[in-house]
Amino acid sequence: MRFEPTEIARLYGRSRVGVVVHKDLQAVYVNDAYAKMLGRRDVKDFMSEPDMRQYIPPSFHHEAAKLSEGYQGSNGFHGWKKVYNIRTDGTPVWMEISDETVEWDQGNAVLTTAQAIDNGTTAMQVDHMLGRSFIGVMVHRNMNALYVNESFARLMGAESASGFMENPDILRFIPEDNRPRAIKHVADILSGERRGDRHRVLDILDDGSSVWRDLTDERILWHDGKPAILTTAHDVREEVEMHHELVRAKAGLEEAVTEVIRLVPSAVAMLDIGLNVVHHNHEFARLFGQEKAAGDDQAFDISALHECCAKMKLHGHGHATLDEMQTPSGRLADIRMNMMEGGGVMVSATDITDHKRKEQMLDTLASTDPLTRALNRRGFEIAVSRLREIRHLKDKSWLFGLIILDLDYFKEINDTYGHAVGDRILEKVAETLRQALRDDDLVVRLGGEEFAVLLPSATAAVTKRIGERLASMIRAIEVPVDKAGEKFAKVTASFGATVGGEGRQKFVELSDAMKVADEAMYAAKEAGRDQMIFKTRENESDT
Ligand code: GH3
Ligand code: MG
Ligand code: MG
Repeated sequence: MRFEPTEIARLYGRSRVGVVVHKDLQAVYVNDAYAKMLGRRDVKDFMSEPDMRQYIPPSFHHEAAKLSEGYQGSNGFHGWKKVYNIRTDGTPVWMEISDETVEWDQGNAVLTTAQAIDNGTTAMQVDHMLGRSFIGVMVHRNMNALYVNESFARLMGAESASGFMENPDILRFIPEDNRPRAIKHVADILSGERRGDRHRVLDILDDGSSVWRDLTDERILWHDGKPAILTTAHDVREEVEMHHELVRAKAGLEEAVTEVIRLVPSAVAMLDIGLNVVHHNHEFARLFGQEKAAGDDQAFDISALHECCAKMKLHGHGHATLDEMQTPSGRLADIRMNMMEGGGVMVSATDITDHKRKEQMLDTLASTDPLTRALNRRGFEIAVSRLREIRHLKDKSWLFGLIILDLDYFKEINDTYGHAVGDRILEKVAETLRQALRDDDLVVRLGGEEFAVLLPSATAAVTKRIGERLASMIRAIEVPVDKAGEKFAKVTASFGATVGGEGRQKFVELSDAMKVADEAMYAAKEAGRDQMIFKTRENESDT
């Protein structure tokens, strides 16, 4: 159909329906109704600036140009759509328009009729409402963008929305591996088979950099009357980077913890909230590990720690200790447990077996005489106080017999046979005393060739009897003094004996009893040696 401008003016000049004829988005004819609809004073005012793009929102410039170009090449009616344009005062006007290509002088032009309506389509509102949003918004179909707002364009590395729309292909942003899935995903939403959803994607931008986005998809009807997908996008690059950073930091920390645990000399293990061993070192396995077959994971027996852990949790304590615990591998260990944030427990254990053994050895060394292995004075005091405690606990009374003996003319033995023989005799005497007495009885080397024997619970009669027995056993001692073993050194001793302790009437301290026994022993020396004198504090003496 060919139109003359005058004919158009006659047909539509006074119409209430707005009419505009344009070529390449430049108006060549407009009626009064259209001019006013867009905020111009009149036709003349409108035609003073015939560029139609001033009324079209920038994000639709590209689409409008394409449509206009397409329409100009094909005659006929192109259908209805709802759009919004921008009035000269900046407010939007919602319009229902129809486009038709007509013959115009020197070619075709597009005849658009427009009627103002109250509201546009949801799709058109997108730009109005979200065009300036900081949230990225895109409308797309078949992996081609139909609309993007400024935020989305910038998120995808373009300078502006219209710049982005120069190349509306969005498949290029999607890493190749993900393309089939992405295509299916949007196709499913478009066909209504799948509701839109939220997901996080990694897109590759034109410059090769990447952007993490949280996307929300939604099916809408676009203003061309066909469905499209409205995608809102949120830049989560920093969040993802931070998450990766955290994961890296956590892995680094775990590695460091494992390494530290491996390196420390004491046994260390980390238990989770269920008291399963999560990390452990070699030393911990040595103390708590169970036999394992090759290839099996190391299992542990930490049942002995469970009760203590439970108590610690129950009472809300941060730590607990267990001293000198017997470990499953038969070692002695000092244990320390610390609650960790999140309910796990850190266990450290020090193997004190060797330390304890050394301590005992030192204790023995400090309390015994190396030559005769009899107790020295210090050992005697410790043993006596232990004994006293035990006896006290038992029957509230503490009675003992005490014998002090000194070898006779020992200096002569040394002088005659030499010091080595003297030593041998001292050893034999101590051995004899030990053999003759019970385990409870104490044998002490008071010094030189002087010994004491303490007989717990012994009465005076028992003490005397035992003293006599010891005297005859010492008399029987023979130490060879020549290589052939034909000559022997022999020895005798003088004995002083007494009794002491806390009985019903009696109360004699050990130190007092020692004095009494010593006096008795000297009395025996004076009386000619090789004999025993029994004496009590009350000075009753008895041979
Ligand atoms: P008595 O007691 O009968 O009066 O005469 P004694 O000769 O035994 O008396 P004295 O106390 O004068 O001498 C004790 C001697 O014991 C002196 C010392 O040489 C000797 N003696 C002390 N300790 C040891 C020792 O560890 N080894 C040896 N071989 N002799 C020792
Ligand atoms: Mg002597
Ligand atoms: Mg002496």
